[in-house]
Amino acid sequence: MRQHTLRKAVSLEGVGLHSGKTVRVTLSPGPADSGIVFRVGDDGEPIPAAPESVVDSHYATTIGKNGARVQTIEHLMAAAAGLGIDNLEVRVDGSELPAADGSAKPFVQLMLTAGRTPQGARQRPIRIPHAIGAGSSGRWIQIVPADTFRISYTLDNEHPAIGTQVLSWTPTEESFITDYAPARTYGFLKDLGFLRKSGRALGGSLDNTIVIGKSATLNGLRYRDEFVRHKVLDLLGDLALLGRRIGGHVIARNAGHALNFELVVAVQRALGLDRRAAARAVAAPVAAEPAEALARTPGLAVS
Ligand SMILES: [Zn+2]
Repeated sequence: MRQHTLRKAVSLEGVGLHSGKTVRVTLSPGPADSGIVFRVGDDGEPIPAAPESVVDSHYATTIGKNGARVQTIEHLMAAAAGLGIDNLEVRVDGSELPAADGSAKPFVQLMLTAGRTPQGARQRPIRIPHAIGAGSSGRWIQIVPADTFRISYTLDNEHPAIGTQVLSWTPTEESFITDYAPARTYGFLKDLGFLRKSGRALGGSLDNTIVIGKSATLNGLRYRDEFVRHKVLDLLGDLALLGRRIGGHVIARNAGHALNFELVVAVQRALGLDRRAAARAVAAPVAAEPAEALARTPGLAVS
């Protein structure tokens, strides 16, 4: 499979969910093997959408470099991943992406308007060599080896509007566009005061967030299980920080951006360690040491 980018530049304007500020984002074609690269303003330095660039992963995934920051990149990242777009330049005139309708659907529509084009370079999918995980009882995420990419997710919440929602999905472009991209972000009305006091959710409204009241949502649902679908969407966007397609089955329970990011870092570390382990094995065939080194790595579950 070849890498893909957009055919032409397109842009979208809207309010940032957390900052409440109006921002404009422009997506342009990116060269092969460049990945997804953000810039703040016309002259901003490139901020690659990569684990090394993540500066915060609470409530939203934020990347930054030398003081420049871009918050809430996950829905745009999910749109690119769901449509198989590998290389993209993203220019923002503020520090957060537009919340749009709280889902990835407006970004998907924008990218489809631009059109996609294949590039000279081939994709280099990541093969997951062994189980890798993060988190502990109640909240955890892991990825296990599999021939294709699959996500299984369990969301438990004692709130009657949510309850327990479970799904398992092998992503295809068609199901991404119709079943996952439109799933919106959600928040509890009771948390709004605290979030706003801490400078978050300033742009949140019934137009871009499912707001959950005492017993039900205030603005309806697009799917009966829209909450878990949005969790899967966020996960897809956060995994896209690895910059490559993944052959593996991700299994998660009540994870969020912070745990998703822990998994991304653990995968990156495991693949790096495996390369070093392979190099050592060639130099001196001692099998036990790399496995021990993996087992000692914090945050890395090996089975
Ligand atoms: Zn989200």
